[in-house]
Amino acid sequence: MSGKRTFTMIKPDAVEKGYIGEILAKITEAGFRISAMKMTQMTKRDAEKFYEIHKERPFFGELVEYMTRGPIVAAVLEKENAVEDFRTLIGATNPEEAAEGTIRKLYATSIGENAIHGSDSDENAEKEIAFHFSGREIF
Ligand code: UDP
Ligand code: MG
Repeated sequence: MSGKRTFTMIKPDAVEKGYIGEILAKITEAGFRISAMKMTQMTKRDAEKFYEIHKERPFFGELVEYMTRGPIVAAVLEKENAVEDFRTLIGATNPEEAAEGTIRKLYATSIGENAIHGSDSDENAEKEIAFHFSGREIF
């Protein structure tokens, strides 16, 4: 069964470039409801834990450095089939391979600095939501 929630972060590169408003507009225009949102900065420990699955990958150090260098906007998004539809909206990890009109095609710089995160499964969405938000921060 497809879930109703996913988790996103507008990453430091997109925040630095002033794209928060445009990206949130894309998200709500695509039919997602924002049920929690905050601007925050991840610590090194946070980023290492959040991206633990990638810890053996060669880009892990750079990924942690990038994700902690400035504020992010973290949010919980609601929609039928949220995880899959949001992955479609953001586009491929590498913006050069992302479809026209996707958020990464429009706003990402490179495979590393790719503007936005989207959960890849219902199970990971729930874990990532719990990592960033307590129940009473979700509306
Ligand atoms: N990443 C990177 N180099 C790569 C692959 C990924 O720097 O070759 C970074 C990029 O910021 C990506 C994140 O690591 O968004 C997590 O990688 P994943 O494969 O989970 O991509 P995503 O699910 O974000 O599309
Ligand atoms: Mg991923």
